[in-house]
Amino acid sequence: MTGKVLIVDDVATNRIVFKAKLTEASYAVGQAASGCAALACVASTRPDLILASSRLPDMDTTAFLRALRAQPTARHIPVLMLTHQDTPAQRRTALEAGATEIMDRRTGDSLLLARLRSLLRRHHAQQDLRANAAPTAALGLAEGPPPFHPAERIGLIAAGPGALRLRADLMRAGVDTCTILPPERAIAAISAGRARADAFLLRLSEAEAEAGLRLMAELRAAPRTRACPILILLEAGTAALAATALDMGADGVVLAPACPQELRLRLSTLLAEKHEADRLRNTVQDGLQAALTDPLTGLHNRRYALPRLERMIRAAARADRSLAVMVADLDHFKKVNDANGHAAGDAVLRQVAARLRAPLSEADLIARIGGEEFLIALPGATRATARSTAARICRAVRDSPFALAQGGDPLRITVSIGVTLSRPATCGTLPSPEGLLDQADRALYGAKAGGRNTVTLATRPAA
Ligand code: GH3
Ligand code: MG
Ligand code: MG
Repeated sequence: MTGKVLIVDDVATNRIVFKAKLTEASYAVGQAASGCAALACVASTRPDLILASSRLPDMDTTAFLRALRAQPTARHIPVLMLTHQDTPAQRRTALEAGATEIMDRRTGDSLLLARLRSLLRRHHAQQDLRANAAPTAALGLAEGPPPFHPAERIGLIAAGPGALRLRADLMRAGVDTCTILPPERAIAAISAGRARADAFLLRLSEAEAEAGLRLMAELRAAPRTRACPILILLEAGTAALAATALDMGADGVVLAPACPQELRLRLSTLLAEKHEADRLRNTVQDGLQAALTDPLTGLHNRRYALPRLERMIRAAARADRSLAVMVADLDHFKKVNDANGHAAGDAVLRQVAARLRAPLSEADLIARIGGEEFLIALPGATRATARSTAARICRAVRDSPFALAQGGDPLRITVSIGVTLSRPATCGTLPSPEGLLDQADRALYGAKAGGRNTVTLATRPAA
């Protein structure tokens, strides 16, 4: 089973014919004889695609599509509308009302099935993105302002004087920017950054089909263009070429005659889909970032720190270098909260984090691993350099008092630091991140016992 398709048609014979074709192509098929029945069915069966007649007995196409898109679970389901009389005006009306694709019901099976495959492929890809972004969105980890989309730039890949005319028509139809790219120079111009486009309209004649399809495949593969929608404009009667283009990765095909408004509408819809995919990808990215970051200080958290420390231990062993691991814990921090309130304590923690981070380099690791506890790892540090860096951090915290937003005397704070060293492995076994942390912790107890505001090195470095 490659997907669930709901056929909506009041003529039983039509339903039977389409059901036979789709079942043979391994789709699971549901049926509805009216718009109302389809709307009820969508909510309960959640089809992956709807194949609907443009003539429903109980409602017109626009009313059906509006009611469908109003259902939260059906907002994104692709709808392929089958018309009795495919005219540019009818296509435009259906696309404007929310149909994803529209085609003449007499079109041959191979183009119909290629369209289904293409629509389902894009639908499933978008669904995967939504599923990946859902946990992040639910936790509110990546709430940013709505993205701003600058004017749409269309790359019109077409040759001959017809290209100029098509460009003028598209601009009249409301396309913001349209650049003509001669097919033989398109890839070179884009790769060199001389031409930029957010989406491509590629006009193909049957005679130049092979070169055109190769160009499309190159656009799909090139780093700058692989995420850009590609709409193919074909001559009338080239259904087989249209099916091939869809199966090779075109996002849409339009067979002439097509009005410029329809082309513009299709390009805008494809671009909106791309922006949504970009947004979902960024949500996942931001969510991952948020899951590994301490929101108070902006430092990495424990979840990030331990695996990173493990990688640093392995890298140090490979390079036969040592690695210093420190745990820094603020002294008597409970008293800071008790005397000044939790908010003041938070403000101090933020300032402490900035001071701890200041002397470190990109290759070092710093993370907040507990309330007032920080982990620092310094690749390549010897006992002596680790001690001097730790002492510098101690002084940076101690020597300048911390100002509070609520006013009053700035606070004097100190920090104690326990240090251990991961030495190049001598017996083949590497220390674990937890083992090193434990050693640094024990050294930290020594610093606390020794009066705080000091650095203590572990007596027996980890082998
Ligand atoms: P010691 O010198 O022995 O480390 O004493 P301490 O008071 O720093 O240690 P203790 O473990 O007794 O208390 C740690 C305090 O840190 C308790 C808690 O109020 C405070 N703390 C932990 N996390 C946060 C935080 O996120 N914000 C604030 N404001 N305080 C925190
Ligand atoms: Mg403490
Ligand atoms: Mg502590």
